[in-house]
Amino acid sequence: MTSEDLTLDALYWVTDSRQVIVPEKSVFFAIRGDHHDGHDYIGELYQKGVRQFVVESPALNPERKAAFTGYPDAQFTEVDSSLKTLQQLAAQHRSRFRIPVIGITGSNGKTIVKEWLSQLLANSYVIAKSPKSYNSQVGVPLSVRQLNETHTLGIFEAGISRPHEMQALQPIVNPTLGIFTNIGTAHDEGFRSRKQKVAEKLRLFTQAETLIYRKDYTDIDEEINLLLRAVNPTIRLIHWSLRTDKAAPVTNAVYQAQVKDEWLTLTAEHGHWRLRLPFTDPASVENIIHCVVAMLTLGMLDESRLQSRLNRLRPVSMRLELKEALNGCMVIDDSYNNDVAGLQLALNFLNQQVNRDRKVVILSDVLQSGQREDELYRQIGRLITEQGVSQFIGIGPVIGRNADSFTALPDAPDCLFYAGTDQFLAQFPLNRLQDSVILVKGARSFSFERIVNRLQRKVHGTVLEINLDALTHNLNYYRSKVGTGTKIMVMVKAFAYGSGSAEVAQLLQFHRVDYLAVAYADEGVSLRQNGIDRPIMVMNPAPETFRTLVEHNLEPELYSARVLKEFGDFATTGAVKIHLKLDTGMHRLGFLPNDLPDVITYLKARPNLRVASVFSHLVGADEAQFNSFSREQYERFIAGAATLENGLGYRPIRHLLNSAGIVRFPEFRLDMVRVGIGLYGVEASQLERAQVRPVGTLKTVISQIKELKAGETVGYSRRGVLDHDARIATIALGYADGYDRRLGNGVGQVAVDGVLCPTVGNVCMDMTMIDVTSTTALEGDEVIVFGAEVPITTLAGQIGTIPYEILTGVSERVKRVFYKE
Ligand SMILES: *Cc1c(COP(=O)(O)O)cnc(C)c1O
Repeated sequence: MTSEDLTLDALYWVTDSRQVIVPEKSVFFAIRGDHHDGHDYIGELYQKGVRQFVVESPALNPERKAAFTGYPDAQFTEVDSSLKTLQQLAAQHRSRFRIPVIGITGSNGKTIVKEWLSQLLANSYVIAKSPKSYNSQVGVPLSVRQLNETHTLGIFEAGISRPHEMQALQPIVNPTLGIFTNIGTAHDEGFRSRKQKVAEKLRLFTQAETLIYRKDYTDIDEEINLLLRAVNPTIRLIHWSLRTDKAAPVTNAVYQAQVKDEWLTLTAEHGHWRLRLPFTDPASVENIIHCVVAMLTLGMLDESRLQSRLNRLRPVSMRLELKEALNGCMVIDDSYNNDVAGLQLALNFLNQQVNRDRKVVILSDVLQSGQREDELYRQIGRLITEQGVSQFIGIGPVIGRNADSFTALPDAPDCLFYAGTDQFLAQFPLNRLQDSVILVKGARSFSFERIVNRLQRKVHGTVLEINLDALTHNLNYYRSKVGTGTKIMVMVKAFAYGSGSAEVAQLLQFHRVDYLAVAYADEGVSLRQNGIDRPIMVMNPAPETFRTLVEHNLEPELYSARVLKEFGDFATTGAVKIHLKLDTGMHRLGFLPNDLPDVITYLKARPNLRVASVFSHLVGADEAQFNSFSREQYERFIAGAATLENGLGYRPIRHLLNSAGIVRFPEFRLDMVRVGIGLYGVEASQLERAQVRPVGTLKTVISQIKELKAGETVGYSRRGVLDHDARIATIALGYADGYDRRLGNGVGQVAVDGVLCPTVGNVCMDMTMIDVTSTTALEGDEVIVFGAEVPITTLAGQIGTIPYEILTGVSERVKRVFYKE
């Protein structure tokens, strides 16, 4: 079977079973990944209505083959590798278009350059582009799949994390014009050297006619001249530099760039341009110069036209933010752009929010889709209806005149249409929206941020931002440490270590972790009320909560003969799952070896109590000095679990390791591991610190700034005595928010505009003063309390505590904002 035999007309290519939108028009590519096997979801997809499947011969065991015969009207295409087939199909699709295609790679800025170029070129071309940062082995084929006859330009980004990946992406993007943004350290671990990484990325351009790059990156420059030219001798190289090099020849392929204040000048043989920069930070400047040089290369030479387009450039927020809103609502803020591919992603995210019954979508006109208007809105109407949206609000003249595409469908949601954002805000009673998730998605020109601002719950300027992509990254890191044979339990106790239980649990459910664990029954109940249906273990089950536990299908941890009997007396009928904790050295909760014979006798008499798992906890997994005791605990645990297994006649799931344990003793992973703090961004063993990404950023704002003379004092009890003339800022955060009082008087530091500023005087209940003398900070500026600039571990070290206490100490009055990059 070859990929040619596949019908290309199946409208949607789907690689993630959770993202099927129009099942009967989709083909599902079953891909085997590190953690999931797409073949496992075929039954589920068949039920949803998918009929076309691409499956891998090596994955087809007899069981699966037998299952497939139960789906007579489904079509299975057997190939060696579904991913390769997807990539081949995408390359074939690409080969049908003879239009310019811009291909972008590099370490940073790919997505911004892509988004900005499409903003800048929108009036001149009908553009197909990658949604968000779809730049992976799977993302690139799906992006290129969007190309259709109406497009006159493609802009796609390609990213790689290992050698040999670009080779697969080259024929799919097959750029005519390339941009190599820059080279940094991201993903260095996958490569032997920086040069190897550059060389691999350059493979994207082996067929390109033109390549734009910044000559100041000598690694890039050298590899281009050494390698790329050898395989692509006719390529036209266009480079620019911010360094003045008197010896450099002035040709129309060499641009000398200069930046002074907000002015950019570019000089080449064929002209001189002076442009006002809309953004002046170094990263934005580099991205803008790439874009301008690309426009010049495409023949847009007129300075005033370039300037007027630059003026319209908007910052690119790639973030899909989930925010708390009025009347128990949540808002998904995607108010920066609007295209069909982005809409699909946003609808998928909406679908993950299972904790609100009602789904509302507020959508603007879709600009520059390249599709025929009626077709486009019919497609969108179908997407909206398929997702079970309860209320749909269309804003804009074009969507309004296509109202039929929504209202005429069977099962259509309630639909309302408004001519513009002003009319909507004036006429629609926002407080009528209750207990809903509201997706707000609009093209820039509709200023939907005004809608988001009105919906959002107002709080004082302190927020804890939770990066859901970092959480996912960390989960995958721990998964990769233990491999596929070991289950994952995630600890979401204590408000998910301060990060917000419901939202975190939803993400974990989406990623299909095997178990969740909480400390108390009411935490478990709250998860159930928020739509979490994964198994949940409760570690401190009080007798008065037993009924609640059983009603909500929560599984108690039982740790002593007393609680075992209390629970057994309560749960006399029906099969009930329980978990047994063994004490192997912590001496906190748990059965000691001597207790086990009685436990076995008791449980044999109560066969309706099913031991789902048996576990124990290491006392010193974070520190090497306790390694031999950790091994001792492992031995004791194995012995205890074996005694139980022999006595009970079946084997419960065995688990021992917490986050630090997984890193230090992967060989003790057994049947399941329990991930806690590592998921939330702190690698407690410190052995593989760089592998875990920070998840939470605690931010506040400057309320007031004062110029004070040396000798003045600041705050309660005159503790902050100034020894210099100082600028002192008051920030909206105090010990009631979780900023520990011991961080006062210069012990702690916060970051303002990248500069670390010490605290001055005592921390107050709701406010703290900091010294901003060495900054140019203004009132209203953002202050980072912890996050990438101020690691949680540093903060913990300053006051002699552990990161766990800092994380769980952030008070619940601090609003949590969740975002995806
Ligand atoms: C909290 C907890 C964990 C998680 O520990 P981390 O160090 O945060 O990974 C694991 N097991 C038990 C029993 C716990 O209470």
